[in-house]
Amino acid sequence: MSKHPTDPARNPGRPSSPTRATAGRTPAPPVSALEKPIQYLRGVGPHRAQLLSALGITTVGDLLEYFPFRHEDQGRPQTIDTLQLDTPATVIAAVESVSVRGMFRNQTVNARVRDATGEMLVTWFNAPYLRDKLERGQILRLYGTVGVNRDIAQMINPRVQWLDPDEDPAQWDHPRLVPVYSATGQINSQQIARLVETALAEALPAVGETLPESIRTRHGFIGRADAIRAMHQPRTLEEIGEARRRLAYEELFLMQLAIGLQRRWTATHARAPALPVTPKIDEHIRRRFPFPLTGAQNKVIEQITADLASTRPMTRLLQGDVGSGKTVVALYAALVAVANKHQCAILAPTEVLAAQHFAGIEKYLAGSRVRRCLLTGKTSQAERKQMLAAIEAGNMDLIVGTQALLEQRVQFGRLGVVIVDEQHKFGVSQRAALRGKPQSSKGRRTGPGGKAPAADPLLVPHYLVMTATPIPRTLSMTVFGDLDVSVIKELPPGRQPIITRLVRPKDEHAAWTEVRRRIAGGEQAYIVYPLVEESDALDLKAATLEVTHVAQDLLPGARVGLLHGRMKNAEKQAVMREFATGRLDVLVSTTVIEVGVDVPNATVMVIEHAERYGLSALHQLRGRVGRGTKPSICFLFSDSQGEVAQRRLDVLCKTTDGFRIAEEDLKIRGPGELLGTRQHGWPEFRLANLLEDADLLMQARDDAAEIIREDPHLVQKYTALRAELRRKFRDKVAFIDVG
Ligand code: ADP
Ligand code: MG
Repeated sequence: MSKHPTDPARNPGRPSSPTRATAGRTPAPPVSALEKPIQYLRGVGPHRAQLLSALGITTVGDLLEYFPFRHEDQGRPQTIDTLQLDTPATVIAAVESVSVRGMFRNQTVNARVRDATGEMLVTWFNAPYLRDKLERGQILRLYGTVGVNRDIAQMINPRVQWLDPDEDPAQWDHPRLVPVYSATGQINSQQIARLVETALAEALPAVGETLPESIRTRHGFIGRADAIRAMHQPRTLEEIGEARRRLAYEELFLMQLAIGLQRRWTATHARAPALPVTPKIDEHIRRRFPFPLTGAQNKVIEQITADLASTRPMTRLLQGDVGSGKTVVALYAALVAVANKHQCAILAPTEVLAAQHFAGIEKYLAGSRVRRCLLTGKTSQAERKQMLAAIEAGNMDLIVGTQALLEQRVQFGRLGVVIVDEQHKFGVSQRAALRGKPQSSKGRRTGPGGKAPAADPLLVPHYLVMTATPIPRTLSMTVFGDLDVSVIKELPPGRQPIITRLVRPKDEHAAWTEVRRRIAGGEQAYIVYPLVEESDALDLKAATLEVTHVAQDLLPGARVGLLHGRMKNAEKQAVMREFATGRLDVLVSTTVIEVGVDVPNATVMVIEHAERYGLSALHQLRGRVGRGTKPSICFLFSDSQGEVAQRRLDVLCKTTDGFRIAEEDLKIRGPGELLGTRQHGWPEFRLANLLEDADLLMQARDDAAEIIREDPHLVQKYTALRAELRRKFRDKVAFIDVG
């Protein structure tokens, strides 16, 4: 092949042979071939550069890592006499003539092509760029659906690839896998493929190996450059599989390495106050709870107290289904801090939740000497000023609040423990800010990611994250990979299971009858009406109409309240209070009835358009009922005919195991959706799939741990990894600069 150096301008559809041919001979170009701005790649100008940047591609290297999301199998070439009408086929034929009709962008390009068995017409609409590229005598590989035009076979808008006429035709007789890239309206997959081809020719030799030799041999991985080439221009399906496995592993491995290094960094450079629990402290704290703690709560408390007793900062994720009793555990940890003369901050994502937490805690702390306050955006200036002064002076023990606490640079005198509820709703920057929250004490040199001499380590609080979203292990290892995990699996005793029913439109009547029956018996109901964010106003109208409908037609005589996201916080809380105190029978709400809302007398829930929610969201919603001792029921209304929707909702009817449900959700919607945000701080995986690649993930984690043991700062053997981590995570994580 190397005898025929190709001119890519004449052979835009040519496969990767040029790059393969040159890789061995030419000395590798400088790394800058990968860093070259995409605008300077041949075929890309300022306009296209902008389109590509919308796809996250700003350098030639980015383009090489822009992998196709699937490959189209175009099969082996067929001769023209074997073509079947209306069937996709690949034909290799020579151009006999070319004609053009129409003007400018509307030009239709017609070609007559021929192989040894017959003739075929080829027509491209709106393809002016082809006019100058087609010439008599060229050999084309055409892939398209076969039609007929005056008894001659015809392909309309087929994909085209130019073949080298000097090549041995036997070379062409193989199945072809064409990459399909996710594209935008203005640049299509085929255009991207052509640019990738140019990029491969130019920059593939500059692609270096990132994975250490030892790891590559252990798992039998192909080289990085080969894998990248194979993703874009595979010869076989097996090759795609090999390439994908290697590149997916690499993504997982680099992430595990980053997480491991960050952990190690924290362990070496950060110190937390030791907050031991004596039997006396333990007894004092337990006296606050009107019930014995469950086995699951005790087990988790054991883990937490072991962490708190050490100066190694705790970073623990506490998972427990709604109603499993996390608040009690959180309060236990908070009181350990207080008993050790330190402060504890409990943070919730919204003011409503912060207020709920505070009220819930108040219930247990009635009559205690613990100095506590609720600090949110609603707190008046005067109160806030007082609180802040008390917090800084160390005269406040337990502070419940919202993010406002972080944003306003609250100075804590002696912060010992930070508890964050529903962490995943926080942005990652806040999370980082929290971790490195400097203490106010004089002379302490600290700051997030700042260098701290070993003799004067960064002082940070212990850190506990609570979440009611059950997170499958594979996901928590990546998103919360640097956290230890505790799980509360068992619910407090006396809890009634929630029955969940899928209700089709014809059965809604019966469901409403049941709701009326319960209200008549003094129980309360939630009716949840989904809002679609994009059309807030319209939806709100729908929800408001719904309230009227519910109140007048479906539940006549019931006292109905409305809760929606556009209400002011004060209004929301007023409505919630009315419902909680039983002055309302029914709460019609958009999804703002949030995790944490606790009204034990509410025993029935109706969720309209249930198919619009993720399973985990539905699971959390239904957790609003079943909080008392009466049996509860949740009706999922859905008129969706879709089989998938039906199957998903069935999962919910069959199980209350949040982890099972989360796994289903992960399968269907991906991790970003499951966590309620795509901005969880880590780059999304391009190739790795947390469900299918669970084994790879485990290997990646073990391998990363081994590397860190061997070369903790990646300065001896693994400098290439260090460079790659820097490139990939840039300033996201402060962990490699030190040491
Ligand atoms: P979560 O925060 O996990 O949703 P909570 O801590 O709010 O759960 O607890 C839910 C309900 O269960 C609360 O009403 C609480 O008083 C009660 N509860 C918690 N722990 C126990 C226990 N060990 N025994 C009995 N009831 C409990
Ligand atoms: Mg709670």
